[in-house]
Amino acid sequence: MTPGDRSGVDPRPAQLSRYRLLVPLAAGLGYYLSARLGVAASAMSEGISIFWLPNGILLAALLMAPRRTWPLYMLAAVLAEIAADLPTFTLAQALGFAAVNVFECTLAAMLLQRFARPFVLDRLRHVVLFGVFALVVAAGLAALLGALIYSQTVATATSFWTFWMIWWLGDGLGVLLVTPLLLSWLQGSGEPTERRHLEAMALFVSTLLLTIWVFTHAPDSTDIPRRPFLLVPLSLWAAVRFGVRGAASIGLLVAAIGIAASLHGMGPLVVATPEHTSLLLQEFLAVQALSSLVLAALLQEVRTTHGALNRLNRELEARVEARTRELQQAIQHLEELASTDPLTGASNRRHFLEVARTEISRARRQGSPLSVVMLDIDFFKAINDRFGHEIGDKVLAGLAATVHTSLRGGDIFARLGGEEFILMLPGQGIDEAYQLAERLRVRVASMEVPDCPAGITISAGVAGLQDAGDEIGTLLRRADQALYEAKHRGRNRTCIAETGLGPTVADA
Ligand code: GH3
Ligand code: MG
Ligand code: MG
Repeated sequence: MTPGDRSGVDPRPAQLSRYRLLVPLAAGLGYYLSARLGVAASAMSEGISIFWLPNGILLAALLMAPRRTWPLYMLAAVLAEIAADLPTFTLAQALGFAAVNVFECTLAAMLLQRFARPFVLDRLRHVVLFGVFALVVAAGLAALLGALIYSQTVATATSFWTFWMIWWLGDGLGVLLVTPLLLSWLQGSGEPTERRHLEAMALFVSTLLLTIWVFTHAPDSTDIPRRPFLLVPLSLWAAVRFGVRGAASIGLLVAAIGIAASLHGMGPLVVATPEHTSLLLQEFLAVQALSSLVLAALLQEVRTTHGALNRLNRELEARVEARTRELQQAIQHLEELASTDPLTGASNRRHFLEVARTEISRARRQGSPLSVVMLDIDFFKAINDRFGHEIGDKVLAGLAATVHTSLRGGDIFARLGGEEFILMLPGQGIDEAYQLAERLRVRVASMEVPDCPAGITISAGVAGLQDAGDEIGTLLRRADQALYEAKHRGRNRTCIAETGLGPTVADA
C-alpha cells in the first residue's frame, strides 16, 4: 500500500513489511467503525443499512495491497463485521453478512485488477469499469445474497426485492463514496500538483455551509426552497480544480451531512416513508458522486493527453532543430568542398571568380585599392618528370601552405589551375602587393618539401585595380602578362603589370 505503486502487485516490499500488520489492522478498525456507523444509520426496523461504508474501505485496501496479503484483510474484515454486528444480529447472521461483504469486495477487486490494471481512477475507462464491476456487478450480486440472508433469518413483511434494492444501493453508495476517496489520498495520483490551500479551504467551507443550509430545514418549512441541486456546482468545482481527490472528498462531505440530516427527518430529501427517503438520498448522492468522479477523470485524461502532446511536440521540435543543424553543417561542408581545391586547400577558380567580383565592386564603391598577385612554379614540369607526380603534388601543397601562413584576414588565395595560383589583396596597392609577392618568392625559395631534393622557385606577376571599368578578367589578364614577363626575364622574380603610364615592369 504505497503511493508510488498502483498495480497492487507487491509495491516497495521493504517499506510494506514494516506495516505488514499495521495496515490490515487499520483497515479492520476502519471497517469496524464505519460498520458501527452503518448499523446505526439503518433506515428500517429490520436494520438494513442505507449506506454501508466498510466495503469501500475493504475494496480500497484490496486494490492497493499485494494479493498474498489479501487473507489478512479478509480476516480483519470478518472480525470487524462480527464485532460491529453482534449487538444487533446473531453470530450466524454476522458471519453471513461478513461472507457476503468479503465476497463482494474480493470479486470487485479481482475484476478491476483483471480489466483495469494498474487501476487508477483518473482514467475515464477505469471509472466506468469501477461503476460496472464494483457498483453494479459485485454490489448487485452481494445484495442478492444479503437479501437472501435477511429474508431467511428475519421475520418480516418486507419483500426480498426491497431488501435487495436497499442493500445494493447502500453497498454501492458506500463503495462509491469511500473507495475513490481512499485510493486518491493514499495512492497519490496524476492530478494537479500545485498547492491551492486557500482555494481548497474556500471550497470546503462553502460546501460545508451550503450543505448544512440545504439540509437543515424542516420538510414543511415555507421559506425559500432549498434544493440539493444547489450543491452540484460545488462538486463540479471540486472535480475541475482538485481532480478525483477533490471530487471524492466533497462527495463524502455532502453525503455525511445529507445522510445525518435526512436520518433526523430534516432536509429536502425527506419524503413520505423512510424507504423512499433513503432511496431519494441514495439516488442524489450516487448521481452527484458518480458524475463528479467521471468529470474529474475526464479532465485528468485531457490534461494527461495535453501534457503528452506537449512533450511530443517539444521532442519533435528538438529533433527538427537537431536535423536542421546537421543539414546546415552538411550544407556548409558541401559549400566548402565545392569552393575548395582538395589538394592545396586554396579556393578553386570558380569560387575565386565569384568572390573577386564582389571584392572589386566593393573596392570601387569605397574607392579603396585592390591588387592581385599571380604565382606560377618555375619548371614544374621538370619536377614532375624527375621526381614523379606524387612529389609534384607535395610541392603544390607545400607552396600553398607557405602562402597560407603569409596571408592577412581579408586576402583571398586560389588555385587557378595546374601550378598557377592567384592572390587577391583587397585594400592593398601595387607596392604592398609587390612586397608581399617578393616575401613569398623568398620564402618559397628557402622552403623544403618532404621527399623533394630539388629547390623550388616561383615567378609572380602583380597587377592593381586602375580604371573604374576594370573587371576581374582585365585584372587577371594584366597579372598574367606580368607573370609572363617575369618568366621571360629568367624566372624566380616578380614583375608589375604595365600601368596606364607605360610599361614599368619592375625587376626583382
Ligand atoms: P614554367 O617555368 O614555364 O612555368 O614551366 P613549367 O614546367 O612549370 O610549365 P608548364 O605549364 O609547361 O608545366 C606545368 C606542369 O604542371 C604540367 C603538368 O604536368 C603539371 N601539373 C599541372 N597540374 C598538376 C597537379 O595537380 N599535380 C602535379 N603533380 N602536376 C601538375
Ligand atoms: Mg610553371
Ligand atoms: Mg604554368
